[in-house]
Amino acid sequence: MVAHLTHSSLMRTLFWAFCLTSLAASAQLARHASPAVAEQLYVHERYLASDELGGRLPGSEGGAEAAAYIQNAFRQMGLSPLFDERFTQEVKIPDAAKVSSATNYMVVGKDSVRLTASFWPSTLSSNGTVAAKLAWIGYGLPAEVAALPKGSIAVLVRDLPKDAAAKAGKAGALALRVSAAQRAGAAGVIVLAPVNGAPRLDLLRRTRPVGIPVVEVHDVKWAKRLAKSAKKGKAANLATEIVAQQITAPNVGAWLDRGKPRTIVIGAHYDHVGLGAWGSRKPELAGQVHNGADDNASGTSVLLTLAQMLAKVPSLGDANLAFVAFTGEESGLLGSKEFVETIPAPLGKVTTMLNLDMVGRLNRSDSLRVYGVHTAPEFQQMLETIPADGFYWDLRNEIFGRSDHAPFIQKGIPAVFFFTGLHEDYHAPGDDLEKIDLDGMAAVTEAAAAFIQLLANNAPPTFNPESSKD
Ligand SMILES: [Zn+2]
Repeated sequence: MVAHLTHSSLMRTLFWAFCLTSLAASAQLARHASPAVAEQLYVHERYLASDELGGRLPGSEGGAEAAAYIQNAFRQMGLSPLFDERFTQEVKIPDAAKVSSATNYMVVGKDSVRLTASFWPSTLSSNGTVAAKLAWIGYGLPAEVAALPKGSIAVLVRDLPKDAAAKAGKAGALALRVSAAQRAGAAGVIVLAPVNGAPRLDLLRRTRPVGIPVVEVHDVKWAKRLAKSAKKGKAANLATEIVAQQITAPNVGAWLDRGKPRTIVIGAHYDHVGLGAWGSRKPELAGQVHNGADDNASGTSVLLTLAQMLAKVPSLGDANLAFVAFTGEESGLLGSKEFVETIPAPLGKVTTMLNLDMVGRLNRSDSLRVYGVHTAPEFQQMLETIPADGFYWDLRNEIFGRSDHAPFIQKGIPAVFFFTGLHEDYHAPGDDLEKIDLDGMAAVTEAAAAFIQLLANNAPPTFNPESSKD
């Protein structure tokens, strides 16, 4: 709606808009969480978010130091190791693939196109060698693919014009266009994808091979030349070999064994994206430490502080508690997936999971968002009875499957996710300690402690199978 405003009413409107904005910027409800809790959180947060840990990338020295710190903290609290006699469970995580020029090449006529500088294998590529004629298929949309001569190397343009993309809908996705070319009989695919900047071989961490060699040409001159050569049906040789690499990094877990038949799992991932070689929202700033103070040094610090608080509670209803710092979350929830597949037998039945991921910026909106409330009918009322210390509960039924509670829900375990929201520093080097709201984290910690005690003192929540469709 566009309002017609006279000059004076415009000034009045601007004045009020200004007042409201400044109010919003400074709005923060008073909180009364224990200073001792905030102090404890600060000790963990300061270390985990430090430059020294280099953004806690799995497989890096900083990642290993973070794991050692968490393990040590659990041990000092007198908690038991969660995995047989160990605090750690190794998780396999894909790493940047190896790609060498001896086995990845492209020759058009007599000219070699240079690996990395001008082309690289696509995440859609299978390993293989092909010698065939090039065939131009435009954008690789169905009508164009239909005319493809079998056994040729299809050449297509990656970026669809806007109107064509809108018209094509899902069929416009590059993976689908490349698969369609493969099904139409292409022996290889060259994707013309001229881009500025360095090639992103790191993206080859997770491949989705379609069965034939697929390369992307990012050099502008070569992209033009290949378009011409393809229209003329010139001959080319293509070879790809992506050698997958894998590292391992540990989940770190401890438990408070009360000899009960059921266990509540409290989880937070401690890994992050290191220097941002992958997973950064600001790839141009790759090389700088992505400290992940909010994502997720905050949740990890709350996890450790909760473990310390609850270890001292003499009676905790009829549940054991397991505290797990997950690895590989940023690589696709790999740590939590591994955990739910191999739940240690002594835990008995896992009846609930509480996930803490990005809980360090409560002052953004003074509201603590909880996803997954619908996964058990008991959750809503339980959460509503917990006093909110200087924040509003923002209870949501959706699951928001992009964090470690999701694999638990998939397994039929009711789970909720505490979250203080996305922000401009998400997956960027600016996610720093200075921007963390410690009093807010203390309020989150106390609310989480109250929730866990309620869970332990009441009958186990019942899983709502409908919720996994949310
Ligand atoms: Zn993240």
